[in-house]
Amino acid sequence: MDGGTSSKRRVEAPREGHNVSMGMDALDCPVCFHPLRPPIYQCSVGHFICSSCRPKLGRNKCHLCSAETTFQRCLGMERLMESVKVPCSNAKYGCVEKLTYYQKDEHEKECPNAPCFCPESSCSFAGATDALLDHFSSQHKWPSTTIKYSEDVMFRLEPGLHFLRTKDRQIFLRNVVLEPVGHAISVVSIQPKPKNSKFMCNMSYGSSLTVYFQSSTYLRSSSLSDGLPKGYNLILPKDEIADDGKATFLTFSIDDPNPKVKAREPICLKPVHGV
Ligand SMILES: [Zn+2]
Ligand SMILES: [Zn+2]
Ligand SMILES: [Zn+2]
Ligand SMILES: [Zn+2]
Repeated sequence: MDGGTSSKRRVEAPREGHNVSMGMDALDCPVCFHPLRPPIYQCSVGHFICSSCRPKLGRNKCHLCSAETTFQRCLGMERLMESVKVPCSNAKYGCVEKLTYYQKDEHEKECPNAPCFCPESSCSFAGATDALLDHFSSQHKWPSTTIKYSEDVMFRLEPGLHFLRTKDRQIFLRNVVLEPVGHAISVVSIQPKPKNSKFMCNMSYGSSLTVYFQSSTYLRSSSLSDGLPKGYNLILPKDEIADDGKATFLTFSIDDPNPKVKAREPICLKPVHGV
């Protein structure tokens, strides 16, 4: 009776996770040093190897004990690897994911909470894009505007930073700098991990009577870890624009990266600042 009771008690005991400390290299393949992931193999002595490295061994010779052996699946190690959960490195930026150790790198490459950086050289703030926008407006008073894809927005031409956000939480930084040759404009998509750009940006400038120039370029992406982006998307030559930019408007739009219909909707001009 006692044995039965204690056995039952053991089964019903809570089986919560525990914080443990271990050398994580014990969970890495000793050949390629990447985390072991199922299927995992072992030699007859018990040395582990991952499924990518196993076919590369000559004549089934174990990489550690050099014995000729037949590699077998090690289901116990596979179960262990499935059960080891680690936090994302971006937990301090708000990521709550708990990942199997071997999936951590893949997640972190795409983690939506990976940090972007404040471009102000004297400021060390880093955070996920939502926190970054809050920081820009609360700490630096940089203006931001919510835009819709494929809709033109009209800005007055004035030097400085302006952030643009979309409903799907993309953020773009537009910077206007007064260079000796004229007003230089750069636009960048703020992304934790720079990717091939999918955002086409259209800009034109002119006065109320004339459109001088139009440009359409794919935007670069940046986490702003190196500060403000170098290079410009568009330069408005000095001889066409008065220094203060008055009477010049800049029309700006970003194409929908996932358009539902191919045809562009009718242009709707939305003044942001009076021109
Ligand atoms: Zn390996
Ligand atoms: Zn071995
Ligand atoms: Zn994450
Ligand atoms: Zn800052």
